[in-house]
Amino acid sequence: MSLEVLQFRKLWEGCLKNRSFATENKSIHMSLVVVGSMAFDAIETPFGKSDKIIGGAATYIAWCASNFTPVKQISVVGGDFPQAELDALTARGVILEGVQIKKDEKTFFWSGKYHLDMNTRDTLETQLNVLENFQPVVPESYQDCEILMLGNLVPAVQSSVIKQMRNRPKLIVMDTMNFWMEIMIDDLKHTISLVDVLMVNDSEARQLSGEYSLVKAAKKIMEMGPKYVIIKKGEHGALLFHENQVFFAPALPLEEVFDPTGAGDTFAGGFVAHLAKTKDYSFENMKTAIILGSAMASFCVEKFGTERLTEINAEDIKARVASFVQLVNFDIELV
Ligand code: AMP
Repeated sequence: MSLEVLQFRKLWEGCLKNRSFATENKSIHMSLVVVGSMAFDAIETPFGKSDKIIGGAATYIAWCASNFTPVKQISVVGGDFPQAELDALTARGVILEGVQIKKDEKTFFWSGKYHLDMNTRDTLETQLNVLENFQPVVPESYQDCEILMLGNLVPAVQSSVIKQMRNRPKLIVMDTMNFWMEIMIDDLKHTISLVDVLMVNDSEARQLSGEYSLVKAAKKIMEMGPKYVIIKKGEHGALLFHENQVFFAPALPLEEVFDPTGAGDTFAGGFVAHLAKTKDYSFENMKTAIILGSAMASFCVEKFGTERLTEINAEDIKARVASFVQLVNFDIELV
């Protein structure tokens, strides 16, 4: 049995033991801090249209990561954000002390429309609202942070959280998007220079680096600071680059993709949760983390918004990771 298959086995066994962290693990030393948007989204896909539903990068990351490890969240919402949504996260062990509620302001709003291929989309509208003047405050109880996950957000806000950490976290992972490349490239490059792992999708990697080849793009991005670059390719999987090494994880071929929104954030949540849980930040362990991220992202796309993530349990996760093992497990003997 190959080392990778053994690693996956260990991973499902770990998944099985997990339920959400709400009740069992309150006393565990917490180490994963997540920063990012919490939002209302309106989504159009070839299969339908949603009303204003709950979204946001940090929302997806927290729903996903809390299957495996406690999460300390930093974000901002307006008075219009439903308390029940915050309570649902709290019930899963997501600490919201770092989430500001601006009673008289409106929550960040994003709307997007997917093309027929479901892999590409146009942003129809971005209303920054509470994000416009957001000044995050890192609570004292978050200073034990070992992994900092900077979900999609204003780059200067992301870097302000890094600055507020008295001890540099062992691993800083960052996600971003084309929106910030278009309007704040200098701030964005500064934040990128401070992190260990940058995650972007393929078109963003090309936009940021000016290179069409993803291998060249990853090299250029690593020259900007990050030691690891993850390039997400939607239904075509994800690539992990480090020095001269590359690892590829496919996405699970699904019969139906209903709504890809949040798949990248869910992927990020699975990736950092695995690293936080195992406290092993090596390239080898990142390979397993990418498989878990891909497995979790495959749930996200099955329903609109966060709905599917709110339904799944440890058994579902175990079965999905097993499907991944089947997908990638092959032995070749050259004759
Ligand atoms: P993903 O599909 O993984 O790229 O993430 C989609 C989520 O990102 C949606 O729920 C949006 O609310 C959120 N989002 C979209 N644009 C931005 C932005 N400019 N800053 C922060 N979050 C955003």
